[in-house]
Amino acid sequence: MNGREKAISKINNIKTAKATIPYITENSINKFGENVFSMSVMKQRLPKDIYKSLKKTVENYSALDASVADVVANAMKDWAISKGASHYAHVFFPLTGATAEKHDSFLVPDLSGNAIAEFSGKTLIQGEPDASSFPSGGLRQTFEARGYTAWDVTSPAYIMESPNGATLCIPTAFLSWKGEALDKKTPILRSMQALNTQAQRILKLFGDNSCKIVSATCGAEQEYFLIDKNFISSRPDIQAAGRSLFGAPSPKGQQFDDHYFGAINDRVLAFMFDVERELYRLGIPVKTRHNEVAPGQFEVAPVFETANLATDHQQLTMVTLKKVAKKHGMECLLHEKPFAGVNGSGKHCNYSFGNATQGNLLDPGETPHKNAQFLVFCAAIIRGVHKYAKVLRAVVASAGNDHRLGANEAPPAIISIFLGEQLADVFDQIQHGGATCSKECGVMKIGVDALPDLPKDAGDRNRTSPFAFTGNRFEFRAVGSDQSVSGPLVAMNTIFAESIDYIATKLENATSGDPSKLHAAVQDVMKKIIDEHGSVIFNGDNYTDDWQEEAAKRGLPNLKTTPEALPMLIEKDVIALFNKYQVLSPEEMHSRYEIYLEQYNLKIDVEAKTVAEMAKTIIYPAAVRYQTELADSCLKMKNLGVDYDDSALKETAGLIIELKAGIKTLEGLIAYKSNDALNEAITCCEQTLPAMNKIREIADRLEGVVADDLWPLPTYQEMLFIR
Ligand code: ADP
Ligand code: MG
Repeated sequence: MNGREKAISKINNIKTAKATIPYITENSINKFGENVFSMSVMKQRLPKDIYKSLKKTVENYSALDASVADVVANAMKDWAISKGASHYAHVFFPLTGATAEKHDSFLVPDLSGNAIAEFSGKTLIQGEPDASSFPSGGLRQTFEARGYTAWDVTSPAYIMESPNGATLCIPTAFLSWKGEALDKKTPILRSMQALNTQAQRILKLFGDNSCKIVSATCGAEQEYFLIDKNFISSRPDIQAAGRSLFGAPSPKGQQFDDHYFGAINDRVLAFMFDVERELYRLGIPVKTRHNEVAPGQFEVAPVFETANLATDHQQLTMVTLKKVAKKHGMECLLHEKPFAGVNGSGKHCNYSFGNATQGNLLDPGETPHKNAQFLVFCAAIIRGVHKYAKVLRAVVASAGNDHRLGANEAPPAIISIFLGEQLADVFDQIQHGGATCSKECGVMKIGVDALPDLPKDAGDRNRTSPFAFTGNRFEFRAVGSDQSVSGPLVAMNTIFAESIDYIATKLENATSGDPSKLHAAVQDVMKKIIDEHGSVIFNGDNYTDDWQEEAAKRGLPNLKTTPEALPMLIEKDVIALFNKYQVLSPEEMHSRYEIYLEQYNLKIDVEAKTVAEMAKTIIYPAAVRYQTELADSCLKMKNLGVDYDDSALKETAGLIIELKAGIKTLEGLIAYKSNDALNEAITCCEQTLPAMNKIREIADRLEGVVADDLWPLPTYQEMLFIR
């Protein structure tokens, strides 16, 4: 039996893993947050004044009082030890998109040869991982390799359990010694502040002087594939690159739409229950689960949270999906395109902002006054998306996501906004007249009459748009399944902060403190915004060729690949934008650009090497064996003087020659290295990827020719359908 046959026979004997805790009698909802050092745990365990001080810090994003830290650290340690923890870890989010952690024991030896558990405020607040191996994009010289991690008070500490022990995890920001951000968390915190500062000005104009922090909110829908792990051991491509680099399409793919929202298979459901329980205990409010479009593809979505917490929780969700899948004998693939020919995976990033007094600020609300304020925020978003479409494109650029964006299944690389018919109509009329009317209510005046009821159901009315209004939030659909949501959230917070700043300045100047002038001023600004930026609104089908043409006419950027998109991060206006709102300095932007380019190049390099190696050591030998078998048979037939058909032999021999030639070309490209990362990325994109595809095409044809018992790679049909 070859590895492939062994895998199938093993899988046929797999039984659904049973949960170790009787969750049917012990309701897992009751376990929500049990492993989190939450506000309510702190209330129980901290002296009143300390608790109050910390609560204020969390709610107002203010600085942490150092005297508080020691007390908190001690309480945290006692709580963690009561949960079985022996170690603590500063968890941080380097620019690779991964989650990193450095573990230390609470143990401190004393002079008498014993040990005590210790955890000081200083160790809680700040850690010093030797971070020289994390990319810094030139921000850090090797001689000053250290970075430091700083506790993010707004994201609670939690316990991570493993079969042999538990660890107290502390979410942290990761900075260089000069204070430059080396991670995905720092800019999110900064960008949330920027958004808040600007949004307060609009709220004030509309009479909300509560000064309650305006926070961005995010609910990210995570798509993923599950594959039996027995297949993975025979697929070096999935191991190394997270996606299949070879594989002919299975006759049955997703054409029947029979997987989407279908009944969930028992083995997968057992996995989902387990994932959800783990996430509940970590205080992550996962809510929705279902089968996705492609066979073997699924989705999980939480209830939304503030952007910073949602980002940390999203990272934990990815880690948990991967970890629990292994427990169930499966591999969870988060790659954007693990299988060619069936749908890829995205991570729809639902986004809004709100505060404690008014709730969601992108909810149109029922009163005219609220509507006007809603329209202002909505206009800010339209302007932001248009003005900085290239930034939104750049922050979702990655080697994996390039397979999705632009293919006819995911939003195209053109960033446009879907508003829905009614809202688009409202804006259209704002543009075309002083007083506006709406289809349903007749004549309408901003701030006097109410908006028509906007459809609230998020029923994916337009699944083709990269940026869609869904009733009370926007859904950024171009985000890739494997990405951190941090980049997209930072981009949205910052570009909307800039637009809100623009509008607030206009309104403040026009009203000069006289509220009676507000609505006329709003009308003027909105008209101007729609005049200048309305071309980003598109309610049609984003998948068509017509839209590609139309978008070009409208002057909307169409950045099809990562090497085209990433340089947008260092365009002058973009650098200035992030600098102005103190989200990322020019140096930090440059370092990010360098790192993301490097990541792209490394990814393609690994893929290319894997393709070459598999072609040489797996596919070529299988094809040659088959060729020999055919040749033997032909010879024997010839000796017997029997008529024979040598077309299969000729076809196989021809493909083998093509395969060899393809490998040679690819190896030449792998050897090419440039000092200029962008140059290298362009070569990867324009030459290496096509050379890989060429080999794949030949190999996939061979898969359809070579005898099945000689074919060593698990097929698409097997990987996608057997579980
Ligand atoms: P659909 O597939 O129809 O888009 P889902 O229910 O799968 O809907 O996902 C919707 C996501 O949007 C959920 O994570 C939900 O919590 C989130 N969401 C709802 N309201 C907001 C909001 N105000 N801000 C951010 N996210 C939100
Ligand atoms: Mg959605």
